[in-house]
Amino acid sequence: MKQEAQAANRLGLLESVLGAVHIGAIVLDGHGRIVLWNRWMEQYSGLPSAEVLCRDFYALFPEMRSQRIGMAIQQALVSNFPSLLSQTLNKSPFPLYANRSAAARGERLQQALAVTPVEVDGAERHCLIQVTDVSIAANREKVLREQAMVLRSQTFSDGLTGVANRRHFDVAIDKEQRRAKRNGTPLSLLMIDIDCFKAYNDHYGHQHGDQCLIQVSSALAALLHRSTDLLARYGGEEFAIILPDTDAQQALKMASGLRERVSALAIEHRYAAQGSQCVTVSVGVATLTTEHSFDVPSLIGAADRALYAAKRAGRNRVMAHQG
Ligand code: GH3
Ligand code: MG
Ligand code: MG
Repeated sequence: MKQEAQAANRLGLLESVLGAVHIGAIVLDGHGRIVLWNRWMEQYSGLPSAEVLCRDFYALFPEMRSQRIGMAIQQALVSNFPSLLSQTLNKSPFPLYANRSAAARGERLQQALAVTPVEVDGAERHCLIQVTDVSIAANREKVLREQAMVLRSQTFSDGLTGVANRRHFDVAIDKEQRRAKRNGTPLSLLMIDIDCFKAYNDHYGHQHGDQCLIQVSSALAALLHRSTDLLARYGGEEFAIILPDTDAQQALKMASGLRERVSALAIEHRYAAQGSQCVTVSVGVATLTTEHSFDVPSLIGAADRALYAAKRAGRNRVMAHQG
């Protein structure tokens, strides 16, 4: 009698524990009928255990038969194999909701499942399904992933102007050079340098200098229309534009347009040596064609030489590499 009372006590305790745990517990018998549905499951599914007990699991959740969880239940009951179903592959198998408004929005808890065979003395094999709410961890992961993306984009963009930085440029020019070689298409590079910018800074101050850089870079960016064109801040007041699939003639036209656009900004610069009275740029153009099989350093060198030829010739002009 004493032993029976002890056993009954233990069973009561077990039931209370199963009711108190902060995970969902479902037990299926060998025929796939639900024989246990704990309080956590009641709370988040909105289904009281009286409604689900003794019912066939797939009669309640027909869609699960063909899902990973259906296979896991089969493996547990038939082959005695446990399975872990991570949240990444099986986001939310059960219709469980944090609260009424989440339910109204159809926003299920994100779940991790463990499906474990349970051997019972003298009875058929059962299967325990444990459901853990991993929404918090999953959301934290999402925030971290988004932050990583922002950081990544920051390491590839210039802090002042927001255009691609030198690191981005180095990666992109290599990629485009390989693509041009592979496809037999021309690749052009423009090097753009603001004229007499030292004098601008000296007379108008560094902060105005920064504003000028921002204005010039957005004017340059506004003229790029193809998604493969890339504007980068190459150094202090020097920008580079990669123009894939663009021949020398098209690049020259583009460069002239950019030069005109910058001078049309009419940013006052009374100390410009070329006497323009406003901020201007000089542009060097070089093109890599299949006939000239030069590599990235010589393409950059050629654009650089063209730029300095434009400077020597009096600034506020475009020069192409002859070559
Ligand atoms: P040139 O016409 O031959 O190009 O003459 P320049 O005065 O433009 O060229 P120089 O290389 O002598 O001077 C470049 C100036 O650009 C000097 C530097 O202080 C300024 N500069 C570089 N980076 C920045 C920046 O981020 N902000 C500001 N305000 N100025 C910068
Ligand atoms: Mg300059
Ligand atoms: Mg310079």
